[in-house]
Amino acid sequence: MKALRLEHWQSPAVLRDVDRPEPGPGEVLVQVGGAGACHSDLHLMHEFGEGQLPWSPPFTLGHENAGWVHTLGDGVTGLEPGQPVAVVGAWGCGTCERCRADLETYCDHPERTRAPGGGGGLGLDGGMAEFLLVPDARHLVPLPDGLEPVHAAPLTDAALTPYHAVRRSWGKLGPGATAVVIGVGGLGHLGIQVLHATTAARIIAVDPRESARDLAKRSGADLVLAPGDALAATVREATGGIGADVVLDFVGSDETLLSAAAMVRQLGDLTLVGLGGGTLPVSFFSPPYEVSVQSTYWGNRHELVEVLDLASRGLLHAEVRVFGLEEAVTAYELLAAGAIDGRAVIAP
Ligand code: NAD
Ligand code: ZN
Ligand code: ZN
Repeated sequence: MKALRLEHWQSPAVLRDVDRPEPGPGEVLVQVGGAGACHSDLHLMHEFGEGQLPWSPPFTLGHENAGWVHTLGDGVTGLEPGQPVAVVGAWGCGTCERCRADLETYCDHPERTRAPGGGGGLGLDGGMAEFLLVPDARHLVPLPDGLEPVHAAPLTDAALTPYHAVRRSWGKLGPGATAVVIGVGGLGHLGIQVLHATTAARIIAVDPRESARDLAKRSGADLVLAPGDALAATVREATGGIGADVVLDFVGSDETLLSAAAMVRQLGDLTLVGLGGGTLPVSFFSPPYEVSVQSTYWGNRHELVEVLDLASRGLLHAEVRVFGLEEAVTAYELLAAGAIDGRAVIAP
């Protein structure tokens, strides 16, 4: 079968012929229906090097995946061939305290997994191929009726990650609160929808691209802004001089982190999701008093179930641009050039 492979750090992915995997005991072979192209893959291709992550190439890309159950390994019950499923992406050991608490992103026994903190597409072979080998049936969530794999795939990361991040701040997002989303790409446009569907907050979205700001409006933002020197002051003005209760940074550059710190209010949350490589100086006087600064990583199985439920009720909808596997390299080039609105999804 064809697969989009990351063969080395610091190199673009390439389409190769690989053997179709066979599911062993407990494993499930999934026929891929959609695999989202995440900006993290661009960081993998162009920025990371040996030793920076706990795993290395070669592997097939594609860590946000959905499709249909194809073949069940020995002993797998509760799934039927042909059944549409979404894949929970982080594959921990499954037995430690964290994994049993549905926190496989932070498995306590990385030595028991082959890709600590990762999974298919992040250390192990992912979904940018005709078939994906899933090492345990617990990583599969049946799709609700009416949700196609091509739209479900981005929900497993581009929606799940903001859902996990927003959830941490639910207590600060009641009526009268303001949330700011910085970066309205794959994650950001779904982050706005998550805020809209699960909180009462007023939503301000920031992106330099006009088409992304249009997407932000369609996704439920109340106010859209372009970044620039006046950004933090404009957010303060729009919040009666107070600042935003929660700022979600889906870019993570020096510039976005500094403006996030300048627009968040006292006791607010500054949540860093983007891997833009920026740093934020922290002193007693900045960010404002008692702001919680946190990074967040991906999400959990039960959160994905909730995300899929919101999508099945029409409250979350990934805006997708679909590419064939042959066009996957082009899709990443377009993503790198800022020419994708919403999410590029590879449908093999
Ligand atoms: P994307 O390329 O689809 O979207 C990024 C958006 O940010 C684009 O719309 C771009 O125009 C906008 N942008 C660029 N510079 C900006 C600025 N200065 N101010 C405001 N907006 C700006 O990327 P994505 O797939 O949504 O991923 C976003 C980031 O999140 C990436 O760094 C990715 O690696 C990271 N990510 C993190 C996690 C996690 O678990 N923490 C999970 C997935 C992705
Ligand atoms: Zn991702
Ligand atoms: Zn574990």
